[in-house]
Amino acid sequence: MIFRKFVFTFFLVQLSFSGFTQETEFATKKVVLVILDGIPAEVLEKTDTPNLDEISWEGGYSRAWLGGERGKYSETPTISAVGYNSMLTGTWVNKHNVKDNRIQFPNYHYRTIFRHFKEVYPDKTIAIYSTWLDNRTKLLGENLPETGYLQLDYYFDGLELDTLRFPHDEQSLYIHQIDKLVADYAAKDILEKSPDLTWVYLQYTDDIGHKYGNSSQMEEAVREADRQVGVLWEAIKKRQYAFNEEFLLLVTTDHGRATGGFHHGGQSDEERNIWIVSNQPLNPRFQKFPAIVDIFPTVASFLDIPIPRNQAMELDGVDMWGKVYASDLKATIEEDNLQITWESYDQSGEGRVWTTFGNQFRYGKMDQYTYFGKVDLKAGKAELDMKGYEFKNAKVVLELPQGFLNYWISRP
Ligand SMILES: [Zn+2]
Repeated sequence: MIFRKFVFTFFLVQLSFSGFTQETEFATKKVVLVILDGIPAEVLEKTDTPNLDEISWEGGYSRAWLGGERGKYSETPTISAVGYNSMLTGTWVNKHNVKDNRIQFPNYHYRTIFRHFKEVYPDKTIAIYSTWLDNRTKLLGENLPETGYLQLDYYFDGLELDTLRFPHDEQSLYIHQIDKLVADYAAKDILEKSPDLTWVYLQYTDDIGHKYGNSSQMEEAVREADRQVGVLWEAIKKRQYAFNEEFLLLVTTDHGRATGGFHHGGQSDEERNIWIVSNQPLNPRFQKFPAIVDIFPTVASFLDIPIPRNQAMELDGVDMWGKVYASDLKATIEEDNLQITWESYDQSGEGRVWTTFGNQFRYGKMDQYTYFGKVDLKAGKAELDMKGYEFKNAKVVLELPQGFLNYWISRP
């Protein structure tokens, strides 16, 4: 990454000296995120999905998870909109505050990756193609004062509200029909307009899971979802072949399903386990059981979206594209002794520990952080003396050479 940036700068300097007006040799980067609703990893793995297979041969497949830390402050229901918003904001429910599919009081201070992207690159384009209208109007929060009046450049959604054209039948065939239209429309837009950051959401697999559980019907629904991904993938391949564009395509799901494959919402492994397919090879974090919140920093890294420091300090995910130094920060406090641990990726480097004793961020204000010292990232653990600091709650942040990890603690 660093090498590429250096070469790019050098190239521009050369251009300005020689007066050439030609395109740079570096591809324009684009991201397509796809959520296929409620497909358990076990079901996906035993179903024939040639398109997802082809994509993962180019990049990779990994089992992943969501649901925050079970039994702790960040525990997050395994419910659809909650999962989507964890992907969009890179945070768990204790921050983004979308607790169920009613989406009553989202905390828009935890900005979506779409909003960050559009604020940094107002001339680039964002798009959503979705079988559920609320994804645009409530989660992305289009045209709301709370999101700075975010505008999508392209969208296709809301068909599920048209009961004349799509009568709501028992078998959810209308959802199947809508998914197909959504995928076809998205593929056509990718081919013709090539939005820079796209979210495609398809729902049918969740309806069939609720109705039939683990069954041949569910497997057929998954094969159908795979065919729809195939339509998107064809469009992406054509763009990459015809234009100087490089895509990151990430396909995932928003929750697993409890034993039997019918229900979800709880904290069983079966409900918390998901999966991610990528068309690009990702860093070692991807092989180490990544989380849905990792998608945000990965997109930020791939599309070169600088995240303001105070916002990056709140992210619960880890970048799967750039260099990874550490993940899974945990902290405990006994008396005045703060003990922190993290997963080390065997990279040399120093981390810096910061703590704040309030949580003004959730009100849209700045937290004042106190610096507590350096740690050796290879060590995977450290102890810090917090004598003299009176507090009930604290946010502990480990600053890495790239990115941040955070963990909240409370005194008993
Ligand atoms: Zn769902």
